[in-house]
Amino acid sequence: MTKRSYATVNPCIMCQPMGSALAFKGIENTMVLYHGSQGCSTYMRLQLAHHFREPVDIASSSLSEKGAVYGGRENLKKGLRNVINRYNPKVIGVATTCLAETIGDDVPAIIREFKEEEGIGNDPEKDIIIIPVSTPSYGESHVSGYIKALEAVVRRFAESHGEERAVKNPNGKLNLIPVESLSPPDVRELKEILEATAGNYIFLPDISETFDAPLSDNLPKIAQGGTPLSEIADMPNSRASFGLGIVSKNLALEYLKESYGMPGYSVPIPIGLSKTDTFFMELVNILGCPIPEKYQKERGRLLDAMVDVHKYLYGVKAAVYGDPDMVFSLTTFMLELGMDPVLVATGSKSRDFGMMIGQIFGEIRPELAPVVLDGIDFDSLNDAVSNCSPEILIGNSNGRYIAKARGIPLVRVGLPIHDRVGAQRILTVGYRGALELLDRITNTILEATDTFTAPVQAEPAAYDGLRFERNV
Ligand code: SF4
Repeated sequence: MTKRSYATVNPCIMCQPMGSALAFKGIENTMVLYHGSQGCSTYMRLQLAHHFREPVDIASSSLSEKGAVYGGRENLKKGLRNVINRYNPKVIGVATTCLAETIGDDVPAIIREFKEEEGIGNDPEKDIIIIPVSTPSYGESHVSGYIKALEAVVRRFAESHGEERAVKNPNGKLNLIPVESLSPPDVRELKEILEATAGNYIFLPDISETFDAPLSDNLPKIAQGGTPLSEIADMPNSRASFGLGIVSKNLALEYLKESYGMPGYSVPIPIGLSKTDTFFMELVNILGCPIPEKYQKERGRLLDAMVDVHKYLYGVKAAVYGDPDMVFSLTTFMLELGMDPVLVATGSKSRDFGMMIGQIFGEIRPELAPVVLDGIDFDSLNDAVSNCSPEILIGNSNGRYIAKARGIPLVRVGLPIHDRVGAQRILTVGYRGALELLDRITNTILEATDTFTAPVQAEPAAYDGLRFERNV
């Protein structure tokens, strides 16, 4: 919010239920239903479909004026019945939107009632599992919606372990619980790393197939892939949990830690050199395995590329914005590259964001003094960009109006990217992801400044003269 405005203008976040859809869509045979007004599901389906270029079905209980006045009980039950009949899911994630929360519907109670009426039990093997999540957007953002949904899923499946909170059948696996901003290739990359190190692992949620499916003649009603339900139920038996993101709290990891005494490790999203190093070092610590040669070579290639492009990136002033954990890792990478992130911002309200960004600057480039903002909208980001005068913007595609108005290039990273194709194919994590990001940033800067071609352009002036003579 700017000083001149008491309202949010173009939020730098997305709605909380959208985060829950991102989480539920990474689970096998799962359908999402929003309890609220129709427009919420239309808007969020559009956002996700534009970003991933995949069909995204999200049902709605479609509350109208009547539901808003008398409560949405009947609409929700009808919606659940329709979802079961049309999609035949094993799991239904029910996320509330603003209206349902404002009128105060007791969603867990309505679901209990519905299950009794329909004769749906609690056996995850036989029955449909319905998981409610409270996600009004006036509270928080898609970041917390994702976190809350995953916690609700892990809790619900852990219930099948009974009242007694104890590891029953140790499986020796490693749980990985990521953040909302990963792309399908990011998930594939992390799974490959886990395959090469841990061997046995459970990745929740897995959007690698559900949001990046091959073309098929018979489009399934629910996208294939996602974390198998049997694996989610097995998570409390794992040896440890690994959570991505340190700015936002990973509630599913915390739950497993507190309820099952499971060791839980939270690490930054492995973007850039040092954060990918941290990811591997934690894996080595937990598993006691060496870092596979393949990744050591990839690290060497990244270092080589960083040396190659250092002369183009050093001192380039950047503005980085987006989801808090994404911005945290991106900023670290900018500093490693010798860039000067003059403005670091997130749309989420976060108590620890400023302190953590300050720590990173203190460790890598203490002489720099960035402007760090949280809870901003694009209106205030625009003001901050005007004050800080960055030469490049790095963030999601909603910053394109600022970039265009100010003639600054924008490198599209994060969620959403809906004005370009290929967002579902952008790899950002791991050493390979860092290399790809490095190339994109450097080439954008070269394109904008002509740094690379400037020395070569000294000669064509002579050609200009020749051309002129010939023309004459
Ligand atoms: S702000 Fe609330 S009512 Fe509006 S689209 Fe988002 S969830 Fe729906």
